[in-house]
Amino acid sequence: MTTATPDHAEIRAAVRKLCEGFSNEYWQRMDRDRCYPSDFVSALTDSGFLSVLIPEHYGGSGLGLSAAAAILEEIHRSGGNGGACHAQMYTMGTLLKHGGNEQKEEFLPKVASGELRLQAFGVTEPSSGTDTTRISTFARREGSHYLVSGQKIWTSRAEHSDLMILLARTEKREEVTKPSRGLSVFLVDMRDALKKGMTIRPIRTMLNHGTTEVFFDNVPIPSECLIGKEGEGFKYILDGMNAERALIAAECIGDGRFFVDRASKYATERSVFGRQIGQNQGVQFPIARAHIELEAAAEMVNKAVSLFEAGEACGSEANMAKMLASEASWRAADTCLQVHGGFGFAEEYDIERKFRETRLYQVAPISTNLILSHVATHVLGMPKSF
Ligand SMILES: Cc1cc2nc3c(=O)[nH]c(=O)nc-3n(C[C@H](O)[C@H](O)[C@H](O)COP(=O)(O)OP(=O)(O)OC[C@H]3O[C@@H](n4cnc5c(N)ncnc54)[C@H](O)[C@@H]3O)c2cc1C
Repeated sequence: MTTATPDHAEIRAAVRKLCEGFSNEYWQRMDRDRCYPSDFVSALTDSGFLSVLIPEHYGGSGLGLSAAAAILEEIHRSGGNGGACHAQMYTMGTLLKHGGNEQKEEFLPKVASGELRLQAFGVTEPSSGTDTTRISTFARREGSHYLVSGQKIWTSRAEHSDLMILLARTEKREEVTKPSRGLSVFLVDMRDALKKGMTIRPIRTMLNHGTTEVFFDNVPIPSECLIGKEGEGFKYILDGMNAERALIAAECIGDGRFFVDRASKYATERSVFGRQIGQNQGVQFPIARAHIELEAAAEMVNKAVSLFEAGEACGSEANMAKMLASEASWRAADTCLQVHGGFGFAEEYDIERKFRETRLYQVAPISTNLILSHVATHVLGMPKSF
């Protein structure tokens, strides 16, 4: 199996050019005022970058995951943040792979054109945490509808999305043969649901991520919104999660490269004690180490992406890529902050903002311990601890 992925040089150059139109001041303002970067998302949509994974038949460019990874990496390397819209790339896969023809014909062209945003992904719940099979949001079939009741937490971008991919139980955990059964996926039209009992409450966090709690109080969802087969949703979601982890890992590589670029530049420009601080090996070695760690992590990201593109199993590789890349970007962030001394804490330098942003990725979309546990038990065959 080759780990070579196309490097998409032209796409990268075009994304860099687009990002030049969104200065660091733009991202600082979005962060300070906790705004959704609508102009940036519209520009990405209009240029077709947000729909690279949607097949041409539905109005996208029909490219593979490596193109999406290149786009997100470049956004993050430029100092921007794809967190405002990256979900559309991977949640769309659930609809594309498992949705019915009518659903795809109705929604995918609108998502590709930007007429509809599919940015919300409702999986996590307050009481179940990472133990997804214990979610309790329930969709009860009643005639031509499902009535949905329950609560999601950390549903990012819900206020800025028209559609949500929702995971809910359609059979109680106690009543199924395996805990992963009895879960179903729905494509929820949030514009309609907001009028019928769904409420969204923003959560203010240490980064500008537009994340929320979503409450469902007997919200009627038409049965045509079910994606694939009832009860099989856990499988569909896992599939999408591999793409999500690989793409988030690409964002981490972009973040890490941003930090290494900035740290190398500052270490070369800044003089203290009559010499460039970068002349001191105590300053340059951690930057070189951060670069080396990123290069290694990027190889694992490429491996996960190329397996995904080849349609092969890539759960372990996507997990390992996410862990290595999130840790490499975090060490690069810490190094970059240290190299900048006091200026690293000043908003106008962007380091503190990116530092806060990249920290998320050791927790979401899956935390490091859960990846270690997966590798220990599924790859190395050690006994399960839960
Ligand atoms: C800003 C933000 C945006 C998010 N966006 C979304 C979104 O759009 N949609 C969505 O569905 N979710 C989203 N999430 C949720 C995210 O995926 C979860 O926060 C993440 O998976 C961790 O789950 P948890 O917070 O429930 O932690 P918990 O599961 O409560 O775990 C807490 C800690 O305990 C550790 N832990 C738990 N069990 C074990 C164990 N058995 N062994 C060892 N360690 C263990 C974990 O590693 C973690 O460090 C978002 C979260 C954040 C913070």
